[in-house]
Amino acid sequence: MDLLLHMLLSLQQLDDKLSSFGQKKKEIPERIHAMKHAFEEEKKRLEEQRQRLQEALLKQKQLEKQLQESAEERKAKQKKLLDVKTNEEYKALLKEIEYAKQADSGTEDKILTLFEEIDTCEKALKQAEISVQEGEKKLQEETRLLENEVIEIDREHRLLQNEREKIAADLAPDVLADYEKIRTRRSGLAVVTVRQEVCPGCHMQVPPQTINEVLQTGEIRHCPFCMRILYCELEESA
Ligand SMILES: [Zn+2]
Repeated sequence: MDLLLHMLLSLQQLDDKLSSFGQKKKEIPERIHAMKHAFEEEKKRLEEQRQRLQEALLKQKQLEKQLQESAEERKAKQKKLLDVKTNEEYKALLKEIEYAKQADSGTEDKILTLFEEIDTCEKALKQAEISVQEGEKKLQEETRLLENEVIEIDREHRLLQNEREKIAADLAPDVLADYEKIRTRRSGLAVVTVRQEVCPGCHMQVPPQTINEVLQTGEIRHCPFCMRILYCELEESA
């Protein structure tokens, strides 16, 4: 068939590829950004685990100190029992010692619970550290791959752009302008291949006379409804 319409079809294919490259190139920095963000979140979780462990260790230390002080106080009170003069005083002091013992037993329970928490925290921290290490490696690798992809896209983009320029140079300026105008107005689809006398751009019936003109002359004819450029092939079944 005629060269002109084939050239326009090729031009459209190139433009489709160019715009998909453009889209990909735009998406890559967004993907890198999303990965970095996810990694930062992972690091934040690690920091939180570290913080939790520090707090538990500090609390454990405080409680142990408290227990020690209380033991000393109790010892002092035990000693004082020997010096007490009245029965009431003796009873009161005994009660105090008993209360202190109960309180210490509560503190001991708290310390035991903390031991468990510390153990859990240490395990979670180790896990988080591994996760961050792996995440960092993965981030670096994937960033490198994506950056290479950008280089490759740029290279292919240039090749296609050259090819496009060659075709565009061979087209009459008014034809090129017509094509570009339609492509812009018709969301990227300027040239359509008519199938069973229907324009695939707007799904309307194309007059047989127009199809025949395209087939016979190879010149540009527009769909009377959406103004797209019609490309026609002889169809067996028709
Ligand atoms: Zn149409």
